[in-house]
Amino acid sequence: MAEIIDGRAVARQLDDKTKAEVDALIAAGGPRPGLAVILVGADPASEVYVRRKIKACEKVGIVSLEERLPAETSQEELMGVIARLNADLSVHGILCQVPLPPHIDTRTVLGAIDPDKDVDGFHPVNVGRLSTGTGGIVPCTPLGIMILLETVIDDFVGKDAVVIGKSNIVGKPVAMLLLERECTVTVTHIYTADLPEIARKADIIVAAAGAPGLVRGDWVKPGAVIIDVGITRLMGEDGKEKLVGDVRFDEVQHAKAVTPVPGGVGPMTIACLLANTVQAAKALSAGAAGNADPYHDAPDRSLIYATSEGGAD
Ligand code: NAD
Repeated sequence: MAEIIDGRAVARQLDDKTKAEVDALIAAGGPRPGLAVILVGADPASEVYVRRKIKACEKVGIVSLEERLPAETSQEELMGVIARLNADLSVHGILCQVPLPPHIDTRTVLGAIDPDKDVDGFHPVNVGRLSTGTGGIVPCTPLGIMILLETVIDDFVGKDAVVIGKSNIVGKPVAMLLLERECTVTVTHIYTADLPEIARKADIIVAAAGAPGLVRGDWVKPGAVIIDVGITRLMGEDGKEKLVGDVRFDEVQHAKAVTPVPGGVGPMTIACLLANTVQAAKALSAGAAGNADPYHDAPDRSLIYATSEGGAD
């Protein structure tokens, strides 16, 4: 039987560590970390996500600041809010919930966030830092995936990793993080020829396609580690909605370890957002950030990795 990687337990451990870091920062005379969450309009799913993020902040002692703006807010007004939050010394993380209303150019808005406060890790400066291995903030879901992998893999060097999906928020950044750990990485996508054959060689499979049940038992070599990022809402036979991953969980029990859906990658994402916010606060308060040089050393994600030691139990 494959080991089930318990994302909820690992996320709780990371939250405990984040809370301890908040306490230590304040005890050392630093600021209480602050996260500003911008919500434009009233998209119901976004409302739920924002509520969850704000509640999670409270648990670890991060101050949350909600910036609720009406759907008709102009791009100029939104850019003004971001400029104000960039300059606010009590704000260390800024998150602009997407999707934004269609009259607003998402790329321009996300690009206006100070990269050292960009706790989602989507700013081109942070993408550049990641691909050049020069620190910076990385997107929350890929960071969570790496922390989960660390609970079952001692040594990444030379491992064959196959990433299924090449999105900017999951596939590409997770591939860069695996490369950073000296894995041999193959990034695959919808047009990849003979994906099963490629997957069969992998020591690590990260499935982030959003294609329910894509990864079959005979795609997986014995002893591989599988991270199932996919989340698709399907109607069950009982008429109830259920979340389905990209991996046939029941067929991959010859793997070394696998994440369940739900309860795998999902819980890690908000925990990593909080961890990113604290690292941003530490870097900003140490004066390492706010620097015109995009290669300056801030914030430090290796500190978040260090929090995951000890595994899921
Ligand atoms: P996306 O739609 O932006 O990208 C999907 C990628 O998968 C594309 O590169 C596409 O080419 C590839 N793909 C699609 N179908 C494929 C197939 N049949 N074979 C091979 N490749 C295929 O998706 P995304 O935003 O990266 O999200 C991927 C999945 O991860 C979704 O199910 C999403 O809900 C989930 N997700 C989960 C979390 C979390 O917190 N757990 C966070 C982000 C995304």
